Amino acid sequence: MKLSAKEWLDKIQALPLERKIKIMNVCGGHERSITMAGLRSALPKHIELIPGPGCPVCVCPEEDVYQAIQLALHEPIILVAFGDMLRVPVNVAKGEIRSLDEAKAAGADIRPIASPAEAVQIARENAGKTVVFFAAGFETTTAPVAAMLAEGVPENLSVLLSGRLTWPAVAMLLDSELPGFDALVAPGHVATVMGPEEWQFVVEKHKMPAAVAGFSPESLLAAMYSVLRQLLEGERFLDNCYPEVVRTGGNPVAQRFFAHTMDIVDANWRGVGVIPHSGFELNALFQARNARLQFPSYEDVSRKRAGQMPPGCDCAKVVLGKIYPNQCRIYGKACTPRSPVGPCMVSDEGACRIWWSSGVRE
Ligand code: SF4
Repeated sequence: MKLSAKEWLDKIQALPLERKIKIMNVCGGHERSITMAGLRSALPKHIELIPGPGCPVCVCPEEDVYQAIQLALHEPIILVAFGDMLRVPVNVAKGEIRSLDEAKAAGADIRPIASPAEAVQIARENAGKTVVFFAAGFETTTAPVAAMLAEGVPENLSVLLSGRLTWPAVAMLLDSELPGFDALVAPGHVATVMGPEEWQFVVEKHKMPAAVAGFSPESLLAAMYSVLRQLLEGERFLDNCYPEVVRTGGNPVAQRFFAHTMDIVDANWRGVGVIPHSGFELNALFQARNARLQFPSYEDVSRKRAGQMPPGCDCAKVVLGKIYPNQCRIYGKACTPRSPVGPCMVSDEGACRIWWSSGVRE
């Protein structure tokens, strides 16, 4: 029997919680639902909901955005990217071009796209030009890029890949001395692709309750109820509170596309540093499609920028759940959606943008 959000809230209210319990989510969609449904204020005061590393645009390293800007500005190419990426600022001197949007305004041929199919179409329509697809995203966004490559793309299309896996960031937090949370709500869409088993390490290695959730308040509250009960009863298991979509083993077709086209490598996360086994890279079969190899001088220059962050930007702390968005020193001051300093205020999946959209102004 399915329960309503109100019924789940009643069940949570009835739990004998005596200490503060911090629950982390790692999905921008989860954070959006939690914030927009007002779940933080509806839950008992003992429960703290922490937004974690759930925004792929926010973790895309500054040097990759810089590289995309420089390629678009200085090479006779068409650069295509998912829309959110266009407004992400890089840390350059005043007067220099600091985003793909500004590069576009300066004359670069940059086109926002919503899917890899659009990248293929643009390449077909511009056969005489190189099209570079700047593809930043987590597993759910990177899987269609893998499918696109596996199914064959026009000769003039290459990929500047900045794909990331979510679980290694959570593993890094859990391996640290102060993870900062007591239970995990795992991302439903990622589990749909990769399989819920990917999150089993949270329970087995770290003895922490975990539950996979969908995007409705009901599914999120069911997952929260599950992890709270596990904590109270001393049980530990990975619960699947999104069974209508998440299946054991995930999506084998998507996983075959990954295996065919990409390797998993250590990767830099914006402001965080290198996280082992957390990045997708085009494999040996697809080197001819790799824009990093096609334009090596840009790769060399941009790599030297690793670790760059705009002054005052606390995005890395927000991404890791160390502070809430409005605890950033410049939230709502120097940094607003109209004039973003960090990507967390740009992307629809960024915690700062979500909190701002819900009316949090300070
Ligand atoms: Fe980054 Fe702006 Fe959010 Fe601060 S307010 S964490 S600079 S996006």
